[in-house]
Amino acid sequence: MGFGPMPMKGGGGRFHYLDDEAKPKMNKAMFRRIFKYYLPYWRLLVLLVVCIVVTSLLGLVPSLLTKEIIDKALPDKNFRLLVNMILLSFATTVVSGLISVGQTYLNSRISKNIMFDLRNAMYGHLQYMPISFFSSVQTGEITSRINNDINGIEGVFSNTVVQMLNNLFIFFSTAAVMVATNWKLALFSLVVLPLFVYPTRKVGKVRWKLASKTHEKLAELNTIILETLNIGGTFLVKLFTKEKKQQETFEAVNREVTKLQIKESLAGRWFFMTISTLVAVGPMLIYMVGGYLAIRRGEISVGGIVLFVTLLGRIYQPVTSFANISVDITRSYALFERIFQYLDIKQDIVDKEGAVELGEIKGAVRYSGVCFSYHENKQTLSDINIDVRPGEMAALVGPSGAGKTTITYLLPRLYENDGGTVSIDGIDVKDVTLESLRRQIGIVTQDTYLFNASIRENLLFAKDGAGQEELDAACRAANIYDFIAALPEGYDTVVGERGIKLSGGEKQRLSIARALLKNPSIVILDEATSSLDSVSESLIQAAIEPLLKNRTSLVIAHRLSTIMAADRIYVVEAGRIVEEGTHEQLLALGGAYKKLCDKQFRLDRKTGQKLQNRHQQQ
Ligand code: ATP
Repeated sequence: MGFGPMPMKGGGGRFHYLDDEAKPKMNKAMFRRIFKYYLPYWRLLVLLVVCIVVTSLLGLVPSLLTKEIIDKALPDKNFRLLVNMILLSFATTVVSGLISVGQTYLNSRISKNIMFDLRNAMYGHLQYMPISFFSSVQTGEITSRINNDINGIEGVFSNTVVQMLNNLFIFFSTAAVMVATNWKLALFSLVVLPLFVYPTRKVGKVRWKLASKTHEKLAELNTIILETLNIGGTFLVKLFTKEKKQQETFEAVNREVTKLQIKESLAGRWFFMTISTLVAVGPMLIYMVGGYLAIRRGEISVGGIVLFVTLLGRIYQPVTSFANISVDITRSYALFERIFQYLDIKQDIVDKEGAVELGEIKGAVRYSGVCFSYHENKQTLSDINIDVRPGEMAALVGPSGAGKTTITYLLPRLYENDGGTVSIDGIDVKDVTLESLRRQIGIVTQDTYLFNASIRENLLFAKDGAGQEELDAACRAANIYDFIAALPEGYDTVVGERGIKLSGGEKQRLSIARALLKNPSIVILDEATSSLDSVSESLIQAAIEPLLKNRTSLVIAHRLSTIMAADRIYVVEAGRIVEEGTHEQLLALGGAYKKLCDKQFRLDRKTGQKLQNRHQQQ
């Protein structure tokens, strides 16, 4: 049996989303789609093309003037004409320079705006991506697409589109002048060009292959950096003393990147050498053939020959860059393809057509016959039936991996149930808008997530514009006020990456304060499994009280005290509810719940003692 990745449903799974190996297939629809991003800037684009045409034409003027100087001003000893020609040449160079400044401005304005649009579109789209997407993409993959790929688009425009247009105009305008001056010599100069076509394509292909391999390896390097050079990764590396091993892994990938980059820069060196040699010996050949045409046939003037020599570099230069342009086009195309791949991922969990606003609610929560699976071929939850009346507290208990967290995810539709219904006040959660649904639900997770920002900013995330009194009240209720007040910077203290500067208990109390600020009608609380000292424990217990008071709550309970406070307890095992009832009823049943309690009793003698005392009292 293989250990390959399981197929994920709903477009989930890394292997479903990303297919980097795929060679970009150029097609009309894709070009049309890319073009759409350029369309809003068509006026600037037209102006840019005008600039390109004008500069490529102006670029010919100095060569043409040189011809006139040699053929007219010098033989006629016309100093005035000579000065005029020189002044004209100078003026065209200055004008051309000024236009190219404008060209750079237009170039950068168009490309930066396209990047702006793409970044916005990408971030906006990713905001609504299902959780399954984030749990299946690799670290660094998203940042790489938003940063590297979109930044690469700038190069697409400046280096590919603009360069290509520039080269095309330079090539054709130069060829036209050559043909007009002397078609035979022009033919002689241009006849070698078709020879460049095959090697150009060949070099292009080799460079593309190397470039995509380099890209792959760079992504690998990026992942290593992102995974290890952060708080969590560093902790692991240090704890398992893997610094050396990590360094070796990094160095190996880094070495491959360097090798590939060197290879890429050397690809086509013979081809480029041939072209440079041709460019170098070209003038001599032109003098040879041009000289023959001038001396023996009188078909071309001396100025004409010099004109050809000066134009030679201008005509071969675009050809050399065409070798790179084919790579650049493929690379740019691939970049767009990678960006579109993300933009095309379906947003699974969205408002359905005709979804209604979930208004004021009483808070009755019901799961009827609910089924769910993360993977197509593995059922995670089966036939879940839960009934919580408004203001009541339901506790979910059971072994690790039983499906308790998954049950709670279905209520705010972080994942969607496959069968059965999850409803609030009798309304199916799938029939209401996500925004109105999630507004009513507060979640305090086991693993508290805080932004690396100030305490105030973290709190305000729950309620924009909450006043100081509101913040104070929430923090007092969550038992975190005194702690914040004692900090030198108070609410402005920055909590560090994932709240590293706070203790586990403080983080939890802060997240309870955050949930309180939201003031939801329904609360989902995933109690921390980690044992805290009795002071922290009682601080948290006291913080939880106002959070659960007068609200419907679904609590994944690990502490017996919480479990016993519940109105109804659901025992979850292997994705099914195996027992339900009150603490006393379930104890009397002597089944799974009793076993769980006994286990907890052994694990936590102190709590167990309390429980025993209570039993004795009963
Ligand atoms: P614990 O008490 O340890 O938190 P739990 O009862 O809350 O466990 P769940 O987190 O709901 O259990 O997990 C139920 C099952 O679903 C487990 O087998 C788990 O491996 C699997 N699972 C959880 N999250 C995902 C996910 N994002 N993708 C695939 N499988 C998942």
